[in-house]
Amino acid sequence: MLAGLALPACVPSPTRRSARLAPGRTRLVPVQVSEDRLIRTVAGLRPYRPSGFRVEAESMGEKLVIHNYGHGGAGITLSWGTAEMAVEHALAQPHRQAAVLGCGAVGLATARLLQDRGFKVRIYARDLPPNTTSNIAGALWSPVSVASWARRESPFAQKLARASRFAHRYFQSMVGERYGIRWLPLYLLNENPGAGVPWTWQLAPELYHAARLQPEEHPFPRAGAWRAYAMMIEPDPYLRALLQDFRVAGGEVIVRELPDRAAVLALPEPVVINCTGLGAKALFGDEELVPVKGQLAFLVPQPDVDYMYVAGEFYMFPRRDGILLGGTHEGNTWSTEPDPAATERILIAHGQLALGMR
Ligand SMILES: Cc1cc2nc3c(=O)[nH]c(=O)nc-3n(C[C@H](O)[C@H](O)[C@H](O)COP(=O)(O)OP(=O)(O)OC[C@H]3O[C@@H](n4cnc5c(N)ncnc54)[C@H](O)[C@@H]3O)c2cc1C
Repeated sequence: MLAGLALPACVPSPTRRSARLAPGRTRLVPVQVSEDRLIRTVAGLRPYRPSGFRVEAESMGEKLVIHNYGHGGAGITLSWGTAEMAVEHALAQPHRQAAVLGCGAVGLATARLLQDRGFKVRIYARDLPPNTTSNIAGALWSPVSVASWARRESPFAQKLARASRFAHRYFQSMVGERYGIRWLPLYLLNENPGAGVPWTWQLAPELYHAARLQPEEHPFPRAGAWRAYAMMIEPDPYLRALLQDFRVAGGEVIVRELPDRAAVLALPEPVVINCTGLGAKALFGDEELVPVKGQLAFLVPQPDVDYMYVAGEFYMFPRRDGILLGGTHEGNTWSTEPDPAATERILIAHGQLALGMR
């Protein structure tokens, strides 16, 4: 696949390339990018709404349906924040029995917060971890690709800031081995030296500890760089642990697809929280909700890589289950088949970046 593309078997040692880095500046080990280190490729569909996630209560017959879906590229990141907002709607009515539809990051966070507030909760889901979109996620804690840029000055921006703050605080209490969460430095890289941080970060800047770096202060072949600190969540251990927490707290899981609204209204629980992600499009007829395909390539783990970067659409997170190289953003497709051409683009982009490191 990569034959003839001048991509080496592995990048040279960083010490050979360190001459231009200012004394005392952090040395970072480059990722060894080569096709023979590839262990798997995966693709998933982000549930994206240009106007942003939907957390809203709606009366349907005798039931209260509370929607909590449409988190785009930040469903893990925002899960606890929008769960808290959904639970506020649930607390405003008298019943304490709830059905949560969906068992991804959003459904599980919502179910756990409901339990913590005294609700008896049953999850109904077609797919359980490890077979949800949430298992495909990166998952960097960073609210990006959540809504269109036009929403930065709308009331939604305030909701997003609130969800970001709540979720960020909640995830801090889960850092550690069991949930597969750790803090790492994160480098935001840009061709443009004047580029700022994403608009969604500017809504709650205290969460990122972001500092602009001068070219001699970082090893990357980019004119613009910021260093921030962020949590990285490994989806498989994280979702497995949440599901276990849910069961230990008395929760029940029913594996079943809900084909339509009538099936939802026939459930025995008086309150239903809709956390079906992209499934909400068909189930509740949300025309705004669209899939944005993302593809990831995983290389053999490299424990000496102890930082993350985002360079345009390409990003690298050093997970225990492999060095994750992303990514792509492709609208108008429902395919979850990895595309070999996208894998090639990802490997070339990351390989060139690693080769250019000082
Ligand atoms: C390549 C890629 C990288 C990503 N990186 C990040 C990242 O770094 N950080 C981050 O925060 N986010 C990231 N995301 C986004 C994140 O994966 C999603 O926002 C998140 O998974 C959405 O979670 P969810 O619980 O709403 O949906 P899902 O995980 O899709 O869960 C939906 C649940 O609803 C169930 N369901 C759906 N329809 C029905 C039905 N009709 N009946 C019964 N059950 C139903 C499903 O079976 C499933 O259990 C990434 C996504 C992709 C694809």
